[in-house]
Amino acid sequence: MVAEDPANTPELIRHPQFYFPDGSIILKSENIIYCVYASILKTRSEFFQTLLSKPPPVQTHNAEHGAEEVSMDAPEKLQDGKTDDTAIELAPIHSASEFDHVLSFLFESWEHDNRTLEALVAILKLSSFYLIDKGRAYSIRMLSTHPGLRPAHRLYLAQQYRVCDWIKPAWEMLFSLPLTLLTHEDVHFLGLDAMETLAVTKEKIITHRRRLALNAPKVQHSYFCRDNDACTRAWSHAWWGEYDRAGVARLLLQNRGLTREEIVTRLNQMNVAGMDNQCRRFTLDALERAPMVAKLELEECEKAQVIDAYEKALKDSL
Ligand SMILES: [Zn+2]
Repeated sequence: MVAEDPANTPELIRHPQFYFPDGSIILKSENIIYCVYASILKTRSEFFQTLLSKPPPVQTHNAEHGAEEVSMDAPEKLQDGKTDDTAIELAPIHSASEFDHVLSFLFESWEHDNRTLEALVAILKLSSFYLIDKGRAYSIRMLSTHPGLRPAHRLYLAQQYRVCDWIKPAWEMLFSLPLTLLTHEDVHFLGLDAMETLAVTKEKIITHRRRLALNAPKVQHSYFCRDNDACTRAWSHAWWGEYDRAGVARLLLQNRGLTREEIVTRLNQMNVAGMDNQCRRFTLDALERAPMVAKLELEECEKAQVIDAYEKALKDSL
């Protein structure tokens, strides 16, 4: 074996936890060496099942161990996973600490629920790469309700690791949050296309809500209305608000995440003290039929179209 220049090679370190003395296969990530049970890796990972079932590389001196002679193009370095020096090198796209997390899933208690967000993301990432079905299912289940996973990160993970079920909740959260709350990291996860889609869709919604809020609907008086002026004043106060009470206009401008149904429900529940009951009913009915309110449905359509397009793109790529 060709000795490597020790000056250029970082010292190999046996992992304090995942170098089992009775392990059967030696793996390497960065300069960390792992000795784990091949049988467990093979059972739980389709990738390792294929990798470790392949005949070992060129065997010239080890014929006495009963290994069949296999002819392969001369490998640069024998990686049979039998010793630290011949450890099988893992994909360099993952870090040793990410590999630690997936090993902790495979070789420790499987389902302990106090893993960090970083650990769960690493398990999702590496389980997707190494085809560890249970690791993928576990991390998806845990991350689906994880409060620390920001919607932009969820959308990114959904696209990278093909979790179709996350597209809708991620977009719905993104639509309901003000753009000003996006962090630099969120923008990085979204990328240019999603960022543009988000900004344009939100701008359309904001413009529409602003128009809706700033055009107070006219009061529809009933035949029996006793005091049109008092009635109109009460409605106006309810719409624009008073010093101690937020009006409908503010509700529309501040809660851009509210759907059409939620807005209509809130309108029906609003307290219009001093307004004739029948006038209130007529006015709300007219408002519900008003084109501006009907347009709230178009907002939902806009959002649904974005979600559908992202879901379709992901499904088509599977
Ligand atoms: Zn009235």
